[in-house]
Amino acid sequence: MTESSARKLIIAIDGPAGAGKSTIASRLARKLGYANLESGAMYRALALKAILRDLSFDDEAALVQLAQKSRIQLEPTSTGNRVLLDGTDVTLRVREADVTEGASRVSVHPQVRAWMVARQQELGAKGGVVMEGRDIGTKVFPQADVKIFLDADPVVREQRRLQQQNLRGNAAQATAAELRERDQRDRTRTVSPLQPAADALVLDSTSMSEDEVLRRVEELVHSKLGG
Ligand code: C5P
Repeated sequence: MTESSARKLIIAIDGPAGAGKSTIASRLARKLGYANLESGAMYRALALKAILRDLSFDDEAALVQLAQKSRIQLEPTSTGNRVLLDGTDVTLRVREADVTEGASRVSVHPQVRAWMVARQQELGAKGGVVMEGRDIGTKVFPQADVKIFLDADPVVREQRRLQQQNLRGNAAQATAAELRERDQRDRTRTVSPLQPAADALVLDSTSMSEDEVLRRVEELVHSKLGG
């Protein structure tokens, strides 16, 4: 059975920031010929729109209305998702610090999450997707064929993030503090807190290489494909 003729799986990769989800998800998607969808980019796009409209990240009702009136699109490319907000390319803008904090704050609201989850379910319904986020295996696709929860020691995650962004000094300190705060908010929110699904393969990548993590994930995928 070739991979292209095989059943199109739904693969969920969840975990905290800096655990290596994006790299693993995009490498895996490329190998399988699947779409890689970064669910966090949708929360980021909504946060950006709230900033542009001068809306509070705490106003749940207004945020849901804003989401309903917005066109948030993810276009998988070989270097990550292109993010379009109402037709404008905001891929780089949504990675900036104010939007990163905003995404974490808008994502605590149950109705915002319900709207996002419904859109994400539409995007992945046909299978052939690797979707990464915080609640993919628990809420978006509890029936996913493969569920990975990728974790790593907080200090290592911080170091990886600072290296990726080539940050030092005050900028590094600010980013590390932001990462810790975001983590704490993701893990303690009332709705869909970050936690592994009961049937997820939990991988601690603290002392694993990227290739090793990918190999473990691929083994699981191939066992699901029956190969
Ligand atoms: O994955 P990324 O860092 O881009 O996500 C930005 C923020 O969006 C996260 O800190 C988290 O608060 C939120 N998020 C979420 N559920 C997801 C994906 C992201 O709550 N499935």
